[in-house]
Amino acid sequence: MTDPVLGDLAPEQVRVRFPPSPTGNLHVGNVRSALFNWAFAHHYGGTLVLRIEDTDLARNTPEGYASVIDSLAWLGIDYDEGPGVGGEFGPYKQSERFDIYRDIVTRLHDAGAAYDCYCTNEEVEARRKASGSKVQGYDGHCRHLTDEQRAAYEAEGRTHVVRIKIPDRPIVFDDLVRGEVTFQPEHVPDFAIVRANGDPLYTLVNPVDDALMGITHVLRGEDLLSSTPRQIALYEALEPLGIGTGSPRFGHLPIVMGEGNKRLSKRDAGSGLAEYVERGFLPAGLLNYLALLGWGIAEDRDVFTMTEMAEAFDIRRVNPNPARFDLKKLESINAAHMRLLSIEELEQRLVPFLREADLIEDPPTQAETLKITEGSVLIHERVGTLGEGADMLAFLFLDDVVYDETDVAKVLTEGGLAVVAAAREALAAVADWTTAAIDGALRAKLVDELGLKPRNAFGPVRVAVTGRRISPPLFESLELLGREQSLARLDAAPAAAGAQG
Ligand code: GLU
Ligand code: ZN
Repeated sequence: MTDPVLGDLAPEQVRVRFPPSPTGNLHVGNVRSALFNWAFAHHYGGTLVLRIEDTDLARNTPEGYASVIDSLAWLGIDYDEGPGVGGEFGPYKQSERFDIYRDIVTRLHDAGAAYDCYCTNEEVEARRKASGSKVQGYDGHCRHLTDEQRAAYEAEGRTHVVRIKIPDRPIVFDDLVRGEVTFQPEHVPDFAIVRANGDPLYTLVNPVDDALMGITHVLRGEDLLSSTPRQIALYEALEPLGIGTGSPRFGHLPIVMGEGNKRLSKRDAGSGLAEYVERGFLPAGLLNYLALLGWGIAEDRDVFTMTEMAEAFDIRRVNPNPARFDLKKLESINAAHMRLLSIEELEQRLVPFLREADLIEDPPTQAETLKITEGSVLIHERVGTLGEGADMLAFLFLDDVVYDETDVAKVLTEGGLAVVAAAREALAAVADWTTAAIDGALRAKLVDELGLKPRNAFGPVRVAVTGRRISPPLFESLELLGREQSLARLDAAPAAAGAQG
């Protein structure tokens, strides 16, 4: 029996591609596509090709290209062929392949599979109205122009696009995610593959390069499903010319939904990769979360590594239903990956964030390094992102605390300040400045003597010392900060509360 995904291919013959248009910040939906292709290629021991779809010269920038390369490097999504890596099917930037496209258009033309169309949009629309047809798109008017008609159009000074002839029968394919999909011919008009100015269109170059690069499987977002029948028609037109071997297998990944019932669009907050890099998400956490947008490793398990994903990945188990992008879930998955880091890894990853916040020197001083190490131990279990970690540790590196206004207003009330004063008195008597001694002194005074609940006892001390209600464990933080600075901060609490009040 042939394999339902591989057909007659050997696993290592699998060739997939990630073809971003370098228009700027990668969309998380694109990253999900890159990840699924990566996992698919690795699962079979096949090849992942990076192809840059930059034929729209007005929209694509060198920065956009650099951002694709940097993003993939940050994510740890490596590719076997592509710009900068090489491979036998290059160049891998479409802007360097215009001669190839021109040649193929000529061959399609000569074979009668493509034709020049001189119609204006207005003419096409007027004919559609007159015929009462509900079908959108081109009606095939120029398919059979005589030489005289052509010459007449040329004499009028008209320009032409090039269109591909779509066969007049349903286009049916077996989607690896959605099963059999059928498009009726009235929904697949003869579409343009070359602009009037001679530039090749996306509709041409995407399938042409799939064919030339020997792509066996196309895994991409469902938003592209409507263009798939046109592409299939083109692969089929190319095959008799000796280009490619017909259509690759398709698998359309579920739509990624944002707020409400709308697709997460490029313009929505939270749709771009850069935001997550800046906030200090881990590549492993982000990728793990994006894998869950359509796939899962097991019912009872949602934290896994990319390697585990590649091993277990099965495109037929991708869920075709829309997947909702859920920031809370992403944060919790990322926090799980933060806990999986060793303390050393956490330290190393925190340094650039502490640096960026101007909290430490570059490179960190010895005293700073010590604080980073001990601080990392304190926050390891309770931090969601590296950015959050740097915020939590900021109080260790600043001479003056930066107070969170809301937290000060809530906690450093009159009652809160009285607690701080009592804590100050108790701590002043602690000679041996260790976590245990600090713990003992504060508990004896605030809980046992004053009868406060631990939350009411330690909350004000925490805000006075760290500036925030969420911090590393309090007694350890006090020890790490040192006696002198701790007492000074407790002394400064009334001023801080006054300044905000
Ligand atoms: N350049 C297209 C995009 O980024 C490629 C789509 C595809 O075929 O995967 O949307
Ligand atoms: Zn026409």
